[in-house]
Amino acid sequence: MTIFDTTLRDGEQTPGVSLRQDHKFAIARQLSECGVHTIEAGFPASSEAERDSVRAIARMGLEAEICGLSRMLKSDVDVCLDCEVELVHVFIPTSEIQLVHTIRKTPAEVIETTREVIAYVREHVDRCMFSAMDATRTDLPFLVEVSRAAAEAGATIVNVPDTVGVCTPTRMQDLIRTLEPQVPAPLDVHCHNDFGLAVANTIAAVEAGASQVQVTVNGIGERAGNADLAQTVMVLEAILGVSTGVETKRLVETSRLVSRYTGIALPPNQPVVGENAFSHESGIHSHGVLANAATFEPGIMTPEMVGHRRRLTLGKHVGRHAVRQMLADVHLDPGDTELDRIVEKVKAVANRGKRVTDADLYEIAETVLGVEAVGRRIDLQDIAIMTGTHSIPTASVRAVVDGAERVAACTGNGPVDAALRAIGRIVPLPVTLKEFEIEAISGGSDAIAHVTIAVEDERGRIFDASSSGDDIVLASAEAMVNAINLLSRADGA
Ligand code: MN
Repeated sequence: MTIFDTTLRDGEQTPGVSLRQDHKFAIARQLSECGVHTIEAGFPASSEAERDSVRAIARMGLEAEICGLSRMLKSDVDVCLDCEVELVHVFIPTSEIQLVHTIRKTPAEVIETTREVIAYVREHVDRCMFSAMDATRTDLPFLVEVSRAAAEAGATIVNVPDTVGVCTPTRMQDLIRTLEPQVPAPLDVHCHNDFGLAVANTIAAVEAGASQVQVTVNGIGERAGNADLAQTVMVLEAILGVSTGVETKRLVETSRLVSRYTGIALPPNQPVVGENAFSHESGIHSHGVLANAATFEPGIMTPEMVGHRRRLTLGKHVGRHAVRQMLADVHLDPGDTELDRIVEKVKAVANRGKRVTDADLYEIAETVLGVEAVGRRIDLQDIAIMTGTHSIPTASVRAVVDGAERVAACTGNGPVDAALRAIGRIVPLPVTLKEFEIEAISGGSDAIAHVTIAVEDERGRIFDASSSGDDIVLASAEAMVNAINLLSRADGA
């Protein structure tokens, strides 16, 4: 089974997404290192800039095969060849609605052009993929005929695109089973997620005999997107036991890279790679997972397999076992009665409709246990911001870190970004900002802002803390310092 990734082509056609060239290179390198078989680097005939980036990716010397998209036109193919791609992907619309409204060709003309252009591609390059665009809405005998003609003319792989995402798994299986014996080339599928069936249809195609699948990182793509790389790969590997060649341990890292570069945040409940994919809040689940993770996780897919981590979170459903474990992580060991009181107070905070952060838990635990407040390694003394229409936002901070005064200044995209970066400079341990959430508690321009921040250390441990105030920058800085102080406490410092 081979994985064909089209993040840089269909994914880049996501409404609102435009990738910088250096980011495209980084994504291509990441995909290749992860073991993706083919990378569709773009549609060279669409613009000069696209041509340059496809050519540059083809010249990177990556392990993955580099593909360029082309309409069924010799002039488009020439542009692809000029970009030095190893696989030319030619497509032509085949459904009646497309023939009538977009290309205005008869079925016979479509077949003739297909034969001619594919033969032309094969005169210049060994690998050619054919796509009958809108295949799932194409008259079936015609789809068989054009796909067979493409394979006979030299297409080395024949793609079946569910261009507008209207197929269902059963129909997809029928389609693949009909095409397979009549088309003398391996079959591939390209499924869209308009009805949320992209991964299901892709898997159905594999079960019916398709030997390649098209995916994008985080399922991005036109409209509702394409089949998701991480989900598709994990279903194939973990459920069906099909080897894809993808290094699954790098799926989360890949997802985050693409999310950062595209600016498309993932919903927390995104399968496999989302923040909550291996998080547990309820008492029963947390207790079970602490005893044996497979009790309330798939088991055949662990966080380690995909480069994720398991996390117990606080909330009104939290139980004693999870709280005991979370306190042990920061070297607190309450007795049974004390633990009951801590759990009760955590639930009381959650029941007020508030998110319960790690900082809240420790504050509660410290009150109940009568121990000293969290040792503050960082004590924020002063923060000054400069921002304006014609100046780059700059923050300078002064803080006492481990008893010594430190100062740092940093620029940023905005005042909050500058402040958080400046704090990052004086921090005694390497942390990354995982989450930044801001909420206006009251209305109006004098609203009280409530900022929640999560930071992660190199070992993947995450702590969150919050702060409120009428100054967004100050509240953000305080929340950041609080979260970092928790993290350094967990270090035993
Ligand atoms: Mn598409």
